[in-house]
Amino acid sequence: MRAIVVGAGLAGLSAVESLAARGVDVRLVEAGRRFGGRARTVHDRFAHGQYAESGAEWVDTVHHRMHALMDRFGVNTLGPGLEWTTIRRWLFWDARLYTASDMVSLDPHVFEQVEHYEATVDSHAVDLPDAARPTSHPRATDLDGLSLADAMRECRLGEAASLFAQRNSEGEFASDPSRVSLLFVAQQRAQEAEAARELGVDVLAHRVDGGVSRIASAWGEWLLRRPRITVDFERSVIAVDQDADGVRVELADGETLAADVLVLATSLVPLRRLAWRCALPNDLHRALHGLGYGTITKTAVQFDRREWEPGYGTTSSISQRLYDCSVDQGGSSGIVMSYCGGDGGRQLGEVSEDERVGLIEADMRRVHGIETSRLGAFSRCWSVEPHFGGAYAVYEPGQVTAYWDVLRRPFGRIHLAGEHVATCTGYMEGAVESGRTVAERITA
Ligand SMILES: Cc1cc2nc3c(=O)[nH]c(=O)nc-3n(C[C@H](O)[C@H](O)[C@H](O)COP(=O)(O)OP(=O)(O)OC[C@H]3O[C@@H](n4cnc5c(N)ncnc54)[C@H](O)[C@@H]3O)c2cc1C
Repeated sequence: MRAIVVGAGLAGLSAVESLAARGVDVRLVEAGRRFGGRARTVHDRFAHGQYAESGAEWVDTVHHRMHALMDRFGVNTLGPGLEWTTIRRWLFWDARLYTASDMVSLDPHVFEQVEHYEATVDSHAVDLPDAARPTSHPRATDLDGLSLADAMRECRLGEAASLFAQRNSEGEFASDPSRVSLLFVAQQRAQEAEAARELGVDVLAHRVDGGVSRIASAWGEWLLRRPRITVDFERSVIAVDQDADGVRVELADGETLAADVLVLATSLVPLRRLAWRCALPNDLHRALHGLGYGTITKTAVQFDRREWEPGYGTTSSISQRLYDCSVDQGGSSGIVMSYCGGDGGRQLGEVSEDERVGLIEADMRRVHGIETSRLGAFSRCWSVEPHFGGAYAVYEPGQVTAYWDVLRRPFGRIHLAGEHVATCTGYMEGAVESGRTVAERITA
């Protein structure tokens, strides 16, 4: 059997390895020049050997496929790990910086409200019998009709708690709360809880020593040395076709490749621009064009000295969330990251990278009173990157029941892989999972 896999992100690499291991000849076609896709560490903008992640940053303790890959390629995690509840270390609100202890002066009920809201949202996960099948939830249709914004209203959050909930949605789902299905959130919480139970671990997030790109490059280089695998870089797929005899893929440079099966391991956004020579079934067409994508703009600025509050904080300003992403790297200089999601992230994408850096650097200085000089910076807005078109998939209200199963079924000889069709959607772990699922299905 011959397969074409499009996209050398973690989903593509995973599909290639699993297919080749089952005796399939695989051709991997990638539009860019590197392995890893949205796993993309930036080194060359910073001094003193420091680095920052422009895409994926954390590997959770429950991401066992990622940990197995890291062990295999000798890549370590960094630091003691972050519990997501510790992200509210400080708050920049109305031009004032509040620490956790004086945030209650802003609103004495802020933490109770946030905890009540999170418990309310999490409670829906308990009734989901199988996290891989969110439509099996007894109240699937009702929950899918609701959004995180509905949960915020139900919990009657005050202003400060609303800001935390808003930023949480923009951070975790890269989207405004009104565009995140409550059934999707229940599915995400259930799959995480299931994994934590099975592995017997607490959920902690770790950064990766040397950056996440190391995992993808080591894996890609290893695959290049294996039999049955060919890799083409800087070749974009622009059209696909299939019939009873096989699949055909047209590349931007005019060549057409043929195989028995095709795995499209890219985000759905670039697939919307392909010429589909074989008509897509209506439900798949709707799902492929309709699935929500959040966006994130990450802007990292390296300063000569670490003149800021430690820990992870929330702002009511343009930066949304600020943290020292180089905290585990040592050294006297340090890198502050702004993690700006949803509409705020999208708006930042409307100006040039230099302007984004200027705006965010000014905000970082205002928030923390930083006076020391800037050594380096980058800003990446994922919705304006043509081969990605967003940060990761977010199932919007109504979309889990309408699209979940449709996107996970093959269409003739064509299979979709990528974080958007995983159980662990939105994560590198999901990308790896999806590649293996597709390979097993193809060779079953
Ligand atoms: C800002 C941000 C923060 C994140 N944080 C985390 C995190 O902390 N932890 C975590 O686990 N995950 C995180 N993620 C998510 C994670 O990065 C993704 O889930 C994962 O990397 C997706 O992998 P993939 O293989 O599905 O897709 P991609 O990585 O998008 O790979 C697809 C590949 O297809 C290529 N391609 C696209 N179109 C074509 C075409 N027409 N022809 C040929 N090739 C094409 C692209 O160039 C790309 O290399 C984050 C993502 C972003 C953007």
